[in-house]
Amino acid sequence: MSQTIRLHDKHFTPYLEHVDILAGIERLAEDINSRYSGRVPLVISVLNGAFRFTADLVTFLEIPIEIAFVQIASYAGTSSTGEVNIIRGVDIPVRDRDLILLEDIVDSGRTLHHFCSYLEKEQPRSIRIYSLLRKPDVVQFTLPETTVAFDIPDRFVVGYGLDYDGLGRDLNDIYQLANS
Ligand code: 5GP
Ligand code: MG
Repeated sequence: MSQTIRLHDKHFTPYLEHVDILAGIERLAEDINSRYSGRVPLVISVLNGAFRFTADLVTFLEIPIEIAFVQIASYAGTSSTGEVNIIRGVDIPVRDRDLILLEDIVDSGRTLHHFCSYLEKEQPRSIRIYSLLRKPDVVQFTLPETTVAFDIPDRFVVGYGLDYDGLGRDLNDIYQLANS
């Protein structure tokens, strides 16, 4: 297992190993394979955080999909700013489509709540969220049905796509903010 790391001014300790992350993602993909069998869902990947999750998840899919990338920002440093900005929206029509949203982590749920309200106006056939991580103790906003690979405690994490002020997205494992 990897060691404690430092990013900017903070220390992080190992939390989830790459091999376990992949096993969790494979379970999500199996759910998608059975649930959407015979359909062609539109997978919407929420950048930047979900870029690695998305790339690995599609390797386990056995159904045809279309994929779109959106960029939504709501965080600065290690806490939510409370504001949600859709920096880049969906460039494929979503009307009557089965939408699968891929998110790195559901924290308060604010980002996806806001984004789903925007999508619902376009009348998709269905919306379902697949998130790698969720902090169940702090979710405050209502969301469409959500399937997660790992429920985690309310502590800031980095790695495997998740950053701390720009650093850490490249790490293969996920790390937790160390006790200071
Ligand atoms: P929410 O809108 O659910 O409060 O926050 C969702 C977004 O905030 C996530 O997509 C992610 O970009 C960021 N976020 C929430 N918790 C964490 C965390 O523990 N670590 C990192 N790096 N980003 C987080
Ligand atoms: Mg995100």
